[in-house]
Amino acid sequence: MRATSILKEADMTAENQKPEFAIEAVGLEKTYRASGKLPAKQALKGIDLKIRRGSIFGLLGPNGAGKSTFINILSGLVTKTGGTAHIWGKDIDAQPRAARSAIGVVPQEITMDPFFTPFESMELQAGFYGVPKSERRTDEILAAVGLADKRDAYVRQLSGGMKRRLMVAKALVHTPPVLILDEPTAGVDVELRRSLWEYVVELNKAGTTIILTTHYLEEAQELCDEIGIINHGQVIACEPTATLLKRLDHKTLVIQPTETVTTIPPSLAEFDTKLRPDGSLAITFRASETGFGRVMETVRSEGISIADLATEEPDLEDVFVSMTSDS
Ligand code: ADP
Ligand code: MG
Repeated sequence: MRATSILKEADMTAENQKPEFAIEAVGLEKTYRASGKLPAKQALKGIDLKIRRGSIFGLLGPNGAGKSTFINILSGLVTKTGGTAHIWGKDIDAQPRAARSAIGVVPQEITMDPFFTPFESMELQAGFYGVPKSERRTDEILAAVGLADKRDAYVRQLSGGMKRRLMVAKALVHTPPVLILDEPTAGVDVELRRSLWEYVVELNKAGTTIILTTHYLEEAQELCDEIGIINHGQVIACEPTATLLKRLDHKTLVIQPTETVTTIPPSLAEFDTKLRPDGSLAITFRASETGFGRVMETVRSEGISIADLATEEPDLEDVFVSMTSDS
């Protein structure tokens, strides 16, 4: 009896010690000094971000926005020039080791020693993080990312996708509560992308906070419960995915008519309809107000027969447009 209640107490203390935010950045700045061909650059201009524990957070922004700089400051690869950051409640300046042991980072670039096997590579990484031999989960993690059968192959014999999976595995050796993936699908095929996402979602369900950067809105909206948008080193939005998507309540239906259409039929003018140079009709409508069915009915009632049909979803570009038109 006593033992269990003590255990419960201990558990509760551990629970209480879990921070509300996995990552907390306040006024984070980075100015790169000019070096070689690169000019000096203020990559981060005061980033404020709070990433809730337990979420799958998407850091979304175009190339050059500062996503990797932000991630690399957290991982210790880049030295910030201003502001503060806490990882799992630990200040990266005051408690750098504790802060860094709370994250596993999968960097944007694949870097790997070609002369080690995945097993050796994992063991080295575990040693680097000071994980005792008895607590290592090398085979378990390799199996989880689908590399059990490549355990003893040389890294140079692995495909790009396998290398990417090994990078994920290596980021997990110390069982960090926060996993950060920097552009994880760059140069990754559809199959791997799907299995990677499945695994990431599984980790999240088991309690790991996930942070990923991407420049694809579609990827972020599919996976993340919260999205922060960064542009030119500044956060321009940070909100639940559903809230963000409400701002983007439009879809475009692109119809290739069987017979050439030269003018936009009046009944279609009720929507925002354009005749494109390739002869297709692009009909933009508010998805929540006007159903897809009503648009199709209108098209049919005009006697337009359809050779081909596609829909276009809003992308990152549209988010920026809607942000600027809001203010
Ligand atoms: P993202 O990951 O969003 O594509 P980065 O954080 O890699 O953006 O880069 C942000 C800006 O900082 C870019 O303009 C980039 O050219 C610049 N930058 C990145 N690394 C360096 C560096 N080592 N020296 C100088 N400028 C850099
Ligand atoms: Mg990057």
